[in-house]
Amino acid sequence: MALTLFNTLTRKKERFEPLKKRSVGLYTCGPTVYHYVHLGNLRSFIFEDVLKRVLLFNDFKVKHVMNITDVGHLSGDNDFGEDKMLKGAKREKKTVWEVAEYYTDSFKKDITALNIISPNIWCKATDHIPEQIAMIQQLEKKGLAYTAGGNVYFDTSKVKGYGALARLKLDAVGKERVKKDKNKKNQHDFALWFTKSKFSDQSMKWESPFGTGYPGWHLECSAMASKYLGKQFDIHCGGQDLAKVHHVNEIAQSEGAYGKKPWVKYWLHNEFLVMSKGEKMSKSSGEFLTLKILEEKGFAPLDYRYFCLGTVYRNPLMFSMKAMKSAQTSRKKLFAKVLELQKSEQGKDSKTARKKWTSRFTADINDDMNTPKALATMWEMLKSDLLDHDKYFLLLEFDRVFGFNLGSVTEEKVPANVKKLAKEREEARSAKNWKKSDSLRDEINALGWDINDGKEGYELKKK
Ligand SMILES: [Zn+2]
Repeated sequence: MALTLFNTLTRKKERFEPLKKRSVGLYTCGPTVYHYVHLGNLRSFIFEDVLKRVLLFNDFKVKHVMNITDVGHLSGDNDFGEDKMLKGAKREKKTVWEVAEYYTDSFKKDITALNIISPNIWCKATDHIPEQIAMIQQLEKKGLAYTAGGNVYFDTSKVKGYGALARLKLDAVGKERVKKDKNKKNQHDFALWFTKSKFSDQSMKWESPFGTGYPGWHLECSAMASKYLGKQFDIHCGGQDLAKVHHVNEIAQSEGAYGKKPWVKYWLHNEFLVMSKGEKMSKSSGEFLTLKILEEKGFAPLDYRYFCLGTVYRNPLMFSMKAMKSAQTSRKKLFAKVLELQKSEQGKDSKTARKKWTSRFTADINDDMNTPKALATMWEMLKSDLLDHDKYFLLLEFDRVFGFNLGSVTEEKVPANVKKLAKEREEARSAKNWKKSDSLRDEINALGWDINDGKEGYELKKK
């Protein structure tokens, strides 16, 4: 079954056909490294990882590029607000460079814990200043940029179809001057290069033909994506919040500079992670949950991955601890099943049966990555009368897309302190000291283990 993906450009599910036969260029907007990424951000990276795995499952070669925004990036998308990197540096009394390095490392640890495949190319905005300057010069040459008040701006009035990705209704808002930035000719114009920083202590600055300063945020993705993937490429992704301004501006400046249309063939966006109050999770809303916090509450990172896969990426995902618990139970059940199946005897492969289940699974994931349906298919397969070694084979096959790292599931070793407590409890039980035995059970439970008494003695199981 052919792979179909929902393209934000056309608002339709389309059959996926890359520009070059079997190889796909994929660009995903990375984090701004001034703080920990929150669970809402991580939902995007998990969705993009599943997309990449679906492409690989369909035998495409994938070249994946992800940027690290380590310069500027104002908290408002429209060139206003605070400079996020500076804000982080002030908060932590570090230099902006130290802040960027610390949070880049932290981000990479999170994606490893979530079993997200690393991009082929990581690129930092600050390593690509010459490319960004060259792009501005190209835009100036084409008459698409103007200088005002010391800054260089992109002139959106020169672009036909500006804002098509976000279905922006330009006429409705008019082209009046923006009150907040008197330099702009049109409301949607955006900065390509700042020389007039509002911040006296701006430390990230570079020499350029337009004056000493720093690039606007949107520019880095256009310059780096095209450096590594060419002037036209296949897929660009991000969270829904990026579609309205950031991606619209990326398209305007890239098509303007390179003259190729469309710059990107397929645009994919995921919906938000929604908190109980109905708000999207964001750093400003105050509800700021990280992977580390989940781990402190007793969840494994892969529980969160399972939780995300339980909902279609284009639907809002409602977050609650109850829903997380339920995802954790399913994930543990799956791991327990893997351990059981690992012990299965080898037998004759049931090729026809395997094919039947693989086809069903492929149909699910190729339908715009319907992961909840694919998970349901997996559980149905596990409950079927298929032989155990076929089930195990299929689980590993499906896991190429799910990414739960099922090939590495091993029995958890019981730590020495838990073993010691269990032994003491056994002695207390023999002495019929039930009070002591109960309190030892509580201690064992508190360490994350269950103890069950059977005919042949006790058994310890990770909770
Ligand atoms: Zn971007």
